[in-house]
Amino acid sequence: MGAVRPWNFSAGPSVLPQAVLEQAAAQMLDFNGSGMSVMEMSHRGPEFSQICDEAEADLRALLGVGDEFAVLFMQGGATAENAIVPMNLIGRSANRQADYVLSGSWSIKSYKEAQKYGDIAQAASSDRVWRDGSKDYPPLAWMAPVQSWQVRPTAAYLHLCSNETIGGVEFVDWPDAATMAALGAPGVPLVIDASSHFLSRPMDFSRVGMLYAGAQKNAGPAGVTVVVVRRELIGHALPICPSAFDYANVAKERSRFNTPPTYAIYIAGLVFKWLLAQGGLPAIEKVNQTKAQALYGFFDQSDFYRVPVHPSVRSRMNVPFVLADSRLDAAFLDGARAAGLNQLKGHKSVGGMRASIYNAMPIEGVMALIDYLQWFEREHG
Ligand SMILES: *Cc1c(COP(=O)(O)O)cnc(C)c1O
Repeated sequence: MGAVRPWNFSAGPSVLPQAVLEQAAAQMLDFNGSGMSVMEMSHRGPEFSQICDEAEADLRALLGVGDEFAVLFMQGGATAENAIVPMNLIGRSANRQADYVLSGSWSIKSYKEAQKYGDIAQAASSDRVWRDGSKDYPPLAWMAPVQSWQVRPTAAYLHLCSNETIGGVEFVDWPDAATMAALGAPGVPLVIDASSHFLSRPMDFSRVGMLYAGAQKNAGPAGVTVVVVRRELIGHALPICPSAFDYANVAKERSRFNTPPTYAIYIAGLVFKWLLAQGGLPAIEKVNQTKAQALYGFFDQSDFYRVPVHPSVRSRMNVPFVLADSRLDAAFLDGARAAGLNQLKGHKSVGGMRASIYNAMPIEGVMALIDYLQWFEREHG
């Protein structure tokens, strides 16, 4: 490789493991003696069939999911799933009901999109606490406690976003069957948008009805969306659901109902093998814990920077922070770029800063960021 690559804290599309990029570069012109790039292959030929089947098998091994789930590679990103999910699942409810937990920008988008397809209700909202009366500046993002969620027993599903990429809110204590029963909604399956922390930690799929994730945050390049869905939930698509988005069709053809995003699946497959080689999700979780603790630990001893998220739900993947004096923001970002630390600007809707520290961000990158944070505070504090 040429020049030193800067540390990339982008929220997505985001950093990929260097080893994966090097392997893809080596195989670019000639994949395994085929004389073709993966991009040039038929999606029904033997080479790509093997790539796709291996990617699915490796992903199943990482997640620990069996054949009760279909594992699908789809297109359209998590945004398209906001429509594809209700089109596939809401028909399970006689009155086309589905309930949504609102915990930040992405779940609010999901909630709004779903309204095109049925009777959609808020199960909980973190908005109120997020925006009003808090003496903290800026107010702390959080997740409404499960006990307060209101779920209709007749809902087709309960939707939540388990990692709000913009707000930096991560929630993994998903309700189990007993908790759903205690909420008065036994048997209502959970639908989870896990886009931005997918594959960052083990997840309890016994609590999951369906889970989706755009790959470009933590699993690969843009263009492929991973869908993990219980087979028992499939087969109720609304008549208006496009054939290519009907989980029944995609599952039957093992992600090759139509031409899938072949190259994106290939790269995601390399990422899955990279993760397996490191010891899978328990191993990468340890690294992610170390990285997040180092960064939050630094912020918590500083008065110069603040993290606007309640400590109980701070994301290990997306770390928003603000400078006490926002007039220093531009100087902070310029200095960061000069120090080889890229893409630290917060999402345009909330401002401030955000460091996304996905699986492929090594601990060295986080340490380089902390060094810079310390230096900038000494210069300007
Ligand atoms: C990025 C993101 C999305 C949107 O993904 P697209 O690929 O742009 O459709 C949805 N949900 C979450 C949690 C995200 O991080």
